Amino acid sequence: MLTWDDYHSEDTLKPARPAPPPPPVEDIPAATAAPSATVSEAANGPAATSTDLAAAAAQALEQLDVAPGLEELEMGAARVSVDEKAMINARADLNQLVPFKYDWAWQKYLDGCANHWMPQEINMTADVATWKSPDGLSEDERRIVMRSLGYFSTADSLVANNLVLAIYRLITNPECRQYLLRQAFEEAIHTHAYQYCIESLGMDEGAVFNMYREVPSVARKAAWSLSHTHHLSDPTFHTGTPETDQTLLRNLIGFYAVTEGIFFYCGFTQILSMGRRNKMTGVAEQFQYILRDESMHLNFGIDMINQIKLENPHLWTETFQQEVIQMILEGTQLEIEYARDTMPRGVLGMNAGMMEEYLHFIANRRLVQLGLPEQFPGAQNPFPWMSEIMDLRKEKNFFETRVIEYQTGGALNWD
Ligand code: FE
Repeated sequence: MLTWDDYHSEDTLKPARPAPPPPPVEDIPAATAAPSATVSEAANGPAATSTDLAAAAAQALEQLDVAPGLEELEMGAARVSVDEKAMINARADLNQLVPFKYDWAWQKYLDGCANHWMPQEINMTADVATWKSPDGLSEDERRIVMRSLGYFSTADSLVANNLVLAIYRLITNPECRQYLLRQAFEEAIHTHAYQYCIESLGMDEGAVFNMYREVPSVARKAAWSLSHTHHLSDPTFHTGTPETDQTLLRNLIGFYAVTEGIFFYCGFTQILSMGRRNKMTGVAEQFQYILRDESMHLNFGIDMINQIKLENPHLWTETFQQEVIQMILEGTQLEIEYARDTMPRGVLGMNAGMMEEYLHFIANRRLVQLGLPEQFPGAQNPFPWMSEIMDLRKEKNFFETRVIEYQTGGALNWD
């Protein structure tokens, strides 16, 4: 563990850094002078005195433009009011977090932080023994573990890339962006968790990480998600017209309601069922934490989509609603195909038929959450225990490996 003494001793041991080569101050064109430019342009010049460097720094700061940035700042403008804030196409300063308009977004950011966890905290010893033992798992159970890690190890990367490369800049609200940043880190933790499982079990990493391109039932799901990110990841894409705003909505529905809201459910149910049967309990515990995070991502996404609908009712046309219903049906069908591929026979007390029923139930829920009619009347949930796992605060010691009610230091109550 580091102590403050380490910091001090390191400071004293470090040799003083040689002074950087000097900037030829008078050669710096006034229009381009900036603090960083001064240093880089100086690479080949003669040694500068500290007076020269100070003069160059002073000159660069004199010319500092106070209003440039990714988004143009209007200097001297009135302070941001709640009414100016909007989910998309807002003109209000995005660097001012408060006053909050969407308390639900800030609350989800706080909830996400309070539930922080890391993959290395989970003991994988029993899993390694089970995986390496010739009769630890049946062939069908092995197939499920391989397929799950294959799909999820890249799926969370797809979601993370979509967040930071596509939607982040288009959601023009700082409290929502705060949650998006938290979510992006959680996606990184999930990818880390899958990698940690793959490494602990000694799996063929190349085979697992390439499954999203090589195994059809995995590849088709990944391809479907990717088809909804292409437009937005183009840096020239901007919202502001009904067509482009609908493109953003399609992406949010494709990623939050389908990718995180449907594509994760067969694999999660299979692995968690394995854990309930006391097999691969480390992998199952990792998935349990991931599922808890994912149900928060899903809820945040649904709130965000519904808020955009509320603020822009002209986008939610009859034709667009039909299109969204079709997207949910496509996602459900792909997940059913994945269930059939991963469960050619009954396994772990379930089979592809039961999973199909469950996915119909899940699809109905997604449709209702988006304000659309159910498409599978009467579909029931054959796995009611899944709902309990999603709210882990109600569920103590599920696998009896540790206290499940996990809170980070920042969320502890000192009263
Ligand atoms: Fe997620």
